[in-house]
Amino acid sequence: VGGASAPVVDEHVSTADGRAIEVAANVGSEAELAPAADRGADGIGLFRTEFLFYDRESPPTEDEQYEAFSAALEAFPADRVVVRTLDIGGDKPVPYLDLPTESNPFLGSRGIRLSLDEHADLFETQIRALLRAAAREDGDDLAVMFPLVSRIEEVEAALAVVDSVASDLTKAGIDHAIPELGAMIETPAAVFLADRLAARLDFLSIGTNDLTQYVMAADRENDAVADYHDPLHPAVLRAIDRTTTAAEGTDAWVGMCGEMAGDPALTALLVGLGLDELSMSAVTVPAVKERVAAIDAEAATDLAAEALACETRAEVRELLDA
Ligand code: PEP
Ligand code: MG
Repeated sequence: VGGASAPVVDEHVSTADGRAIEVAANVGSEAELAPAADRGADGIGLFRTEFLFYDRESPPTEDEQYEAFSAALEAFPADRVVVRTLDIGGDKPVPYLDLPTESNPFLGSRGIRLSLDEHADLFETQIRALLRAAAREDGDDLAVMFPLVSRIEEVEAALAVVDSVASDLTKAGIDHAIPELGAMIETPAAVFLADRLAARLDFLSIGTNDLTQYVMAADRENDAVADYHDPLHPAVLRAIDRTTTAAEGTDAWVGMCGEMAGDPALTALLVGLGLDELSMSAVTVPAVKERVAAIDAEAATDLAAEALACETRAEVRELLDA
């Protein structure tokens, strides 16, 4: 990975002209928490909860999940930890859940769809664990986001589950708190509804791995169309821009947790596109922090405007190389 030799910076960083950019880590297991902290990550921007469900014969209990979320909060006592609710289906099967066999799993029952339908029970258990973790002493910067949102009704239904779990916990006298709540922007539908999502939620996080797949109609796992699966395609850049622009004038912050966020060669472009937070595999955190500190945010905005005016990704790449 490029820039692996950049020095570790523990403090949060700003652009040369003072715009704060959070540089967080994506983690997919508890073992990745300490290395992420060692690399100077400003918290966790994507805690993939799928690992809690893999390599076992039944779903994790509420307490097991509470312990895992607590471990993440303990690893980052002063920084935000964004936990994504279970994102199975598609490329992420779980044998004991008996998920339907679909001819087109990436366009099928996955992410929040399963949580609100076939697996409402699992979702409720996970939300209980999260609300309890949010009440910990170090839990006030816990955030929760929902994957693969494509409808406003899904967010409303998810928020209703949060409310009903909170009132159950109140009745039972169990400590809990409501964390920050957000949606992943991974579908064109979510991009087009981003203004409404931003008005209802605390934050949006753009998942460029799936967003690129759906904008470009190119399976993220199919080598034959890997060339189409390029987040630098102007259509994907416009989707990102539309999302950040939609959130302007709301209180919602906008992050990015797809692979694109971890490429230091794209940091200036992403800052220029208006992202507040970038979350990536921990190994690239130092290099991206180094880049952020060297950027002039105003020049980055100009760069983004030029990229948005490009017709092809070749033009975008040329612009970035110049
Ligand atoms: C994404 O789709 O960009 C993302 C971050 O989620 P995942 O890769 O886990 O689907
Ligand atoms: Mg995704």
